[in-house]
Amino acid sequence: MKKIIILGSTGSIGTQAVEVALKHPDKYKVVAISTNTRVPLALEQAKKLNCKSILITDESASKTEITNDLKVFKGHDQIIDFLHVEADLVLNAIVGSSGLEATLTILEKGIPLALANKESLVVGGDIINKRLREAKKNIIPVDSEHSAIYQLLLGENKKEINKIIITASGGPFREASNEEIKEATPEQALAHPRWNMGPKITIDSATLVNKGLEVMEAHYLFDMSYEKVEAIIHPQSIIHSMVEFADGSVKAHLGPTDMRIPIQYAMSYPERETAPAGFSDFLQIGKLTFEPVDFDRFRALKLAYEAGKKGNGYPVAYNSANEEAVAAFLDNRIGFDKITEVLEEVMNSHEAQPADELGIVKEMDIKTREKAAKAIKEHE
Ligand code: MG
Repeated sequence: MKKIIILGSTGSIGTQAVEVALKHPDKYKVVAISTNTRVPLALEQAKKLNCKSILITDESASKTEITNDLKVFKGHDQIIDFLHVEADLVLNAIVGSSGLEATLTILEKGIPLALANKESLVVGGDIINKRLREAKKNIIPVDSEHSAIYQLLLGENKKEINKIIITASGGPFREASNEEIKEATPEQALAHPRWNMGPKITIDSATLVNKGLEVMEAHYLFDMSYEKVEAIIHPQSIIHSMVEFADGSVKAHLGPTDMRIPIQYAMSYPERETAPAGFSDFLQIGKLTFEPVDFDRFRALKLAYEAGKKGNGYPVAYNSANEEAVAAFLDNRIGFDKITEVLEEVMNSHEAQPADELGIVKEMDIKTREKAAKAIKEHE
C-alpha cells in the first residue's frame, strides 16, 4: 500500500488524482490533502479517502466549520508541519510558484515527489540544481510531456540524446490571426481544443506560456541545454513528446489525451495500472501532423527561451509576471495580447542575479509582481 499526500487536491490535477486513488483502494492510501480555498470540496474528499489530516492554506477560507475529526492545519506557513505525515509519495499539484516551498521541503526530506507544479521547477530550478541535485532523482513528472520524456528515457544513456522534442497542441488560437488573438475573451481562451485542465494552465496554453514553462521544466528535469529542447506544434496531441538519439532513432510516447494517465503513472511508478482512460484507436485518429511554432504570433514562447538561456532569475520574472497577467486577464482587466506584453516589459526591467537561494527567489518574486501590477495598470 502506497501512502500518498496530495497537495492541491481540489484543483484539476488533484481531483483526478483523488479519482485514481479511489479506483485502486488496495494500492493507494491518501493520508493527507491540502487545498487553498475550496474547503467544502476538500472535506468531502477527506471523508471519501478517510485521510488523517488536511491543510487549508488560505486562512480567510478556513473559517468554515470543520466537523469531522481530521487534524487541520491552517495557513501557508504550516506546510512543513503538515508534511510530517508519513508518506511514500507526495503529489504536488499546487497551482503557481507558491508550490515552490513544498517542492523544496519534499526533496529535502527525500520523499519521492510526483510533480505537477511546473512553476516550482521553473522558479526554483537553480536552487534544486545547487543544493538538491541528488534529490532531483526523486522527481516523477506529472506534466504529460515530461511524463512521456521520463518514460522514453528509461534505460537510455543521457549522453546519447540528440534532442528532446516537446509537442504542443497549439491551443485554441493556433489558426487565429493577430487581430483575433488581440480580441480574444477569457471564454474563448478557456476553450482548449484537446486537454481538460484548470483555468490558469488553459490560459497559459493559449498564449503558449505553458509550453515556455515546459521548455524550462524539461531543461531542469533532464539537464538539457535549451538548444536541445525543441517545441513543435502537433494539433492532435496524440504524441505527448519525443526524444531523438545520436543514431537518428526517435522514440515517441503516444496515448489518449487524458491527464489521468500521467497522474496514475506518477502514482504507480515503476509499475503500471489498468488504463484509466481507455485506449488509442489509430484508425480513427487517421493522421498525425506537425507544424513549426509561429514565434511572431506566440512571442511568449520565444521569451521563455530567452529567459531560460539568460538564467539569473529571468525564469522567475517570466513566471511571476505571467501569473499576475493571467489573473488580470481572467478578471477582464487586460486584453489577451497584453499578457505577453506585460511579460516582456517585466523581463526587460529585470535585474539579473543568480536565483539559487530561496530568499533571493522570494524577493525577486515580490519585485516582479509589483512591476507586473504596474504594467497591468498601464494596460487596463
Ligand atoms: Mg503539459
